Amino acid sequence: MQRKRVVVIAFLLTLITGCFYRANPSAPKEAQPEVKQELIDVKQYAKPEAKPEAKRDQPPTVTVPTIPPVVSEPRVSKVTLGAIGDVLIHSEIYQDAKQKDGTYNFFKMFEDVQSYLRMPDILVANQETMIGGKELRLSGYPSFNSPQEVGDALKAAGVDLVTVANNHTLDRGEKVIQSALSYWDRLGIPYTGAFKSKEDQKHMRTMVKNNITFSFLSYAYGTNGIPHPKGKAYLVNRIDTAQIAQEVEQAKRISDVVVVAMHWGTEYETLPNESQMALAQKLADYGVHIVIGNHPHVLQPPAWVSGINGHKTLVLYSLGNFISAQGGVAKRVGGMATIDVVKTTGKEKTVTLKHPSFLPTFTSYQNMTQFKVLPVNQAVPVQIRNGTIQFDPIKQHMRTYMQELHFIGTE
Ligand SMILES: [Zn+2]
Repeated sequence: MQRKRVVVIAFLLTLITGCFYRANPSAPKEAQPEVKQELIDVKQYAKPEAKPEAKRDQPPTVTVPTIPPVVSEPRVSKVTLGAIGDVLIHSEIYQDAKQKDGTYNFFKMFEDVQSYLRMPDILVANQETMIGGKELRLSGYPSFNSPQEVGDALKAAGVDLVTVANNHTLDRGEKVIQSALSYWDRLGIPYTGAFKSKEDQKHMRTMVKNNITFSFLSYAYGTNGIPHPKGKAYLVNRIDTAQIAQEVEQAKRISDVVVVAMHWGTEYETLPNESQMALAQKLADYGVHIVIGNHPHVLQPPAWVSGINGHKTLVLYSLGNFISAQGGVAKRVGGMATIDVVKTTGKEKTVTLKHPSFLPTFTSYQNMTQFKVLPVNQAVPVQIRNGTIQFDPIKQHMRTYMQELHFIGTE
């Protein structure tokens, strides 16, 4: 009887304190985005959190049923997002990666930049060539199909998501795309910009990290004149502003940060062209937070672009080639850009982009062998056939529109 009464009292106290606990406006429960349920199938993509949100699961204490003080401090979370440029697997690169047993191993090519690539909480790569695999016959320029092992090496190096809307997406047709996308699925790496089906295309790629939800979209200016098979436009997203506007709206509804990869611009042009700038303005007006630009095969300086409502968008116009067999200083230089995303939830939610940074890298090779991506700050100046790779000119160029751009590994 005694025991029963204790249990009843404890239960009542739990109810009371439970109510108080809920009534506290700063309780973590209230801070959760309302869209959590819609993101269930996306959770598998999220990297394991270092610290589980244990707070929420703590049972309320029953001993002192006092109202916890109302904490007015906003909750601040931070995520560093990183992006690397074109992963362009020319035949020379996969031949270099070929092992005696017929398999391919690309791990070595990224090992010298791996420590940097693992620094951001989320790293996005532009996989320019489809990794359809050797069963579908490998090929290089101009119609690419790359080994699937490229994906294993990128994953090991720290890549969390790939954008796959490129002018080379349709090079080798639907079979290669389907095989590549299935392989990314097997690796647990989400892809966006090319899709297996209409349903797959409708499924927005999101990632949750430190209480910040990111959405990822990807579009290409064209596909080298190759049309998509009839009724299968989902195989590659093209730059269609009506579609982009609609998908960005959807992304804004379910996430805090919208990231859009754009395959655009003029090849080998070191500054953005008018069409890139006009599109960047549109994306800023739509409310996109971060634009990751690729395709020119050379670096184009990043810029802040203000949208109609004063919203500031980080536009990384072109991150150059991350790895390729192209020659010449400009085409061998690429890099990783990073940005700190700070979300504050209190009376109102704010998302601020801080500390834009860049790590220049270059593709090292001799006689089309020993391909390796190296950080520029560590290995410069490097004499190559048609010039010298030097840190300062890259720094000056990348700061054209953004004096405050920080260079990773420097003061
Ligand atoms: Zn391209």
